[in-house]
Amino acid sequence: MRTAIGALHSLVSPCPFEAYGAAIVNHTASEAGELVCIGANAIIKEGNPTLHGEVAAINNCTAILRDPKGPYKLSAAEVTEAWKGLSLYTTAEACPMCSAAIRWSGFREYIYATSADTLLATGWDQLLPVSRELFARNKGFRSSTVLYGDVLRNETDPLLGWQFQPDAPCPTGCSRGGTGGHCLPDWAPRIQEVAPFG
Ligand SMILES: [Zn+2]
Repeated sequence: MRTAIGALHSLVSPCPFEAYGAAIVNHTASEAGELVCIGANAIIKEGNPTLHGEVAAINNCTAILRDPKGPYKLSAAEVTEAWKGLSLYTTAEACPMCSAAIRWSGFREYIYATSADTLLATGWDQLLPVSRELFARNKGFRSSTVLYGDVLRNETDPLLGWQFQPDAPCPTGCSRGGTGGHCLPDWAPRIQEVAPFG
């Protein structure tokens, strides 16, 4: 999960507005697991509304697993099989789109940190059903991804708690000072107060 959190730092910043990071790991390779790829919400960067952290990671992993010059060099059919041995970690409970992508992929495990209930309570829009419900409704589906929730949520809740709560503290390494009082990395330039004419 810390690698999914670290994906935000690596790909965006310590306090991105859309703090949705993901990591896909092969736990069958070793006890600690072998990281295959990371992803972070890239909607603001790319304008593609499907690029939630989980889908971005699935796209990144597909490219890495298929890359003829990469470490895996898998065929499309082999990639389709590979998902069944991989685990997807995400900083927040997946929306219905990502939950469906996870179920269709057939991941061995899906692990989230901050729950959709917490996201809703802090002001984020959420489509329903939440992934727990979507998984519960589709128990007979041909793949059997195991779901684990609230893993390290104490570390991810603060990353997703400041955006709609003006009094909430910024994540470590950030402070208020962006447009609308948003949190910005400490190294980022601040909005300058411009004195009125006259
Ligand atoms: Zn999503």
